[in-house]
Amino acid sequence: MALTSAIDLGPATALTCRECGNTRDLGPHYACEECFGPLEISYDFGEVTRASIEAGPRNIWRYKGLLPVPSHIEETPNTEPGLTRLVRADHLAETLGLSRLWVKDDSGNPTHSFKDRVVAVALAAARELGFTVLACPSTGNLANAVAAAAARAGIRSAVFVPSDLEAQKIITTAVYGGTFVTVDGNYDDVNRLASEIAGEQEDWAFVNVNVRPYYAEGSKTLGYEIAEQLGWRLPDQIVVPVASGSQLTKIDKAFQELIKLGLVEEKPYRVFGAQAAGCDPVAHAFKQGWDVFRPVKPDTVAKSLAIGNPADGTYVLDVARRTGGAVEDVTDEQVVEGIRLLAATEGIFGETAGGVTVGVLKKLAESGVLDPSAETVIINSGDGLKTLDAVAPVVAPTANIAPVLDAFRAAGIA
Ligand SMILES: *Cc1c(COP(=O)(O)O)cnc(C)c1O
Ligand SMILES: [Zn+2]
Repeated sequence: MALTSAIDLGPATALTCRECGNTRDLGPHYACEECFGPLEISYDFGEVTRASIEAGPRNIWRYKGLLPVPSHIEETPNTEPGLTRLVRADHLAETLGLSRLWVKDDSGNPTHSFKDRVVAVALAAARELGFTVLACPSTGNLANAVAAAAARAGIRSAVFVPSDLEAQKIITTAVYGGTFVTVDGNYDDVNRLASEIAGEQEDWAFVNVNVRPYYAEGSKTLGYEIAEQLGWRLPDQIVVPVASGSQLTKIDKAFQELIKLGLVEEKPYRVFGAQAAGCDPVAHAFKQGWDVFRPVKPDTVAKSLAIGNPADGTYVLDVARRTGGAVEDVTDEQVVEGIRLLAATEGIFGETAGGVTVGVLKKLAESGVLDPSAETVIINSGDGLKTLDAVAPVVAPTANIAPVLDAFRAAGIA
């Protein structure tokens, strides 16, 4: 692809290899030329203050000065992700014996998951880099977000998902009208295929493959928002769902940046990762004390987290160990229990990833790994309406009655 000479990606200055530190110019690159390690964005942050952020738009672009996006970003009002609610969860806290608990509810984004954040940043960067098609391999939520964002931007999308995905996520992707391909294979197969297609289709920005360094930075906004919504403080403990591991590592990166920029006071915080037992490569490695994980074949109701070979899995291990956190997993039964617990205590219907996170929160609280007196934040990363099949078998109306008072009395529900 022919790049125009001057790329404007705001404060981003270069791409740096996470493994060997080799740097290269900003461009459509994602792997180190020396060691094939993943590339990360390096920055030269200008003047960013609490006041300048607070004066910004009520969405992720209030943190534009900390993201690899053009200085003059094209905003589409009322459809941008971010600034989702941070809900004080006193009932859930009491149930679990915790004192201060918050739910960062990212189901409130435009396509009802946290993926709208990463896609918005990837789209802004991809356009600046000259790509014309927005593409992805996805476990479901990313498919929704890419298809919707491309439709809104008036460009083509090309989305690839495993064919056994939940019906809700198939429909909520297809409705946007882009190119949408179901693939007979698991996510890791789809991801590999996407890398091969990216090698041939020069104009296609696979958000989580060939523009992954830009995409991944979008997850930092979760960390910025949590700190800002707590009144410019960091929580003591945070529990984050882990699929590729990007979200968790970027929340940590956001906290580190806020400390360095003097926007929050430096303090210790512990980062906990949450996986489903049916796809637990990182949790397993953590418990075994391994530095690297062994890929697994996913088999879990939590399909949005079903990545058996997570790109950032080893970095999740690093963050959990460095901060005194952990990576834990829960069974599918506990996932469903977690969904119901969050709904019944806080009126928030999360998807299976939320069930994983609440399930792990409960497990860590019960085993005493979490400090019950510390302030804890958990992420609900998606909407329960997208994974109805997970809870459908275990929930039902209290009763079904004839439309007469006698029937109500006879049902014994008064
Ligand atoms: C993608 C996804 C995650 C985690 O994503 P990472 O790949 O670990 O960044 C968490 N929750 C939901 C609902 C998701 O769709
Ligand atoms: Zn390298």
